[in-house]
Amino acid sequence: MRPSTRAVHVPVPTLPNSRSISVPIYQASNFAFDDPDALAEALESPDSGFVYSRYANPTVRALEDHLARLEGGVAAVFTASGMGAISAVLMSTLRSGDHVIAQSCLYGGTYAMLNDLAARFGVDVTYIAGDDPAEVAAAVRPSTRMLYLETIANPVTKVVDLPAFLAAGRAAGLVTVVDNTFATPLLCRPIEHGADVVLHSATKYLGGHSDVTGGALVFAEDQRYREVWHHAMELGAAADPFAAWLTIRGVQTLPLRMRQHCANAAVLAERLAAHPSVVSVRWPGHPGHPDHEVARGHLSDFGGMLVFDLAGGREAGYAFTKGVRLAKLAVSLGGVETTLVHPASSSHRQLDADALLAAGIGEGTVRVSVGIEDAEDVWEDFAQALPL
Ligand SMILES: *Cc1c(COP(=O)(O)O)cnc(C)c1O
Repeated sequence: MRPSTRAVHVPVPTLPNSRSISVPIYQASNFAFDDPDALAEALESPDSGFVYSRYANPTVRALEDHLARLEGGVAAVFTASGMGAISAVLMSTLRSGDHVIAQSCLYGGTYAMLNDLAARFGVDVTYIAGDDPAEVAAAVRPSTRMLYLETIANPVTKVVDLPAFLAAGRAAGLVTVVDNTFATPLLCRPIEHGADVVLHSATKYLGGHSDVTGGALVFAEDQRYREVWHHAMELGAAADPFAAWLTIRGVQTLPLRMRQHCANAAVLAERLAAHPSVVSVRWPGHPGHPDHEVARGHLSDFGGMLVFDLAGGREAGYAFTKGVRLAKLAVSLGGVETTLVHPASSSHRQLDADALLAAGIGEGTVRVSVGIEDAEDVWEDFAQALPL
């Protein structure tokens, strides 16, 4: 089956004589057993029956199996948030004294967590630009344990040559982890390129409707799945069944939504690039994007995240986010509606021009999560809010 078909057909837990087409919500925290040995076994392993919903739950499991198949992995762990997934994989894989190689263009929460691990547990981190796979070998030490990447990186849509970087990580014997939130398994399946662990903030495209917080880890092999599952269970990272159910519902329309996100982003990228008050546009599908050629190599489309820079700097960015009427000023992304942020006046307002530049952000940079509306309506909204 092709990914778009696979996304629709969710494995439904079976009833004795019939089968519901949709996955029911098993709103249960506790499960009874007839046999004490079976109960003991279920406490030890993620697949020996349901015992307690912090360990496993039938609705959550249906989603985990579905995500594992979509990403081409053997198993998955669904968590209460994307950061729950990131915490579980970092805490279960790293020990004091370990060294991590991570891309410098990275989700802010991941960056904060890595810095925290460095300060409190002596985990060392080297940040690489992600322009040349040789950066990996150059950064490797005897203590290096993990290579951490993002398929399309937050916030400025940097795209590393994923197959080449993963090959370099594997050659050095590292555990390779890829945050695939922006690309989704519809555009890229990092396990096919050699990733050990793929993770998502399901809050974004997988859920897709700005109504659920969740995260996921998908594993290329069973042993690592069991180890990380054990730690996720100890950390209490488990998601509740309703969040899993909303995410299942979201994933079934992911192929349709992604097609529209990508098509709309293509329209906006072209028109923004031609606008006199726009200095540059970064959307991986746009020929002007610094990683466009690299992205063409392993992405089947280029996603709904787009960044552009206004000539008028901080003031122009601020005025634009105030001037839009249809698009919403909001930090999260990946929903059906267009949202945007101007980092220099919001998330990054404490940074001066130099510090912003180091983070790859300009004073006039606007980050857009392009929704699935009619692209003409979004463009009309942008056009009336752009400086003349
Ligand atoms: C939002 C986000 C996360 C964190 O996910 P939460 O669900 O907010 O915990 C991680 N990675 C990326 C790329 C994100 O955009």
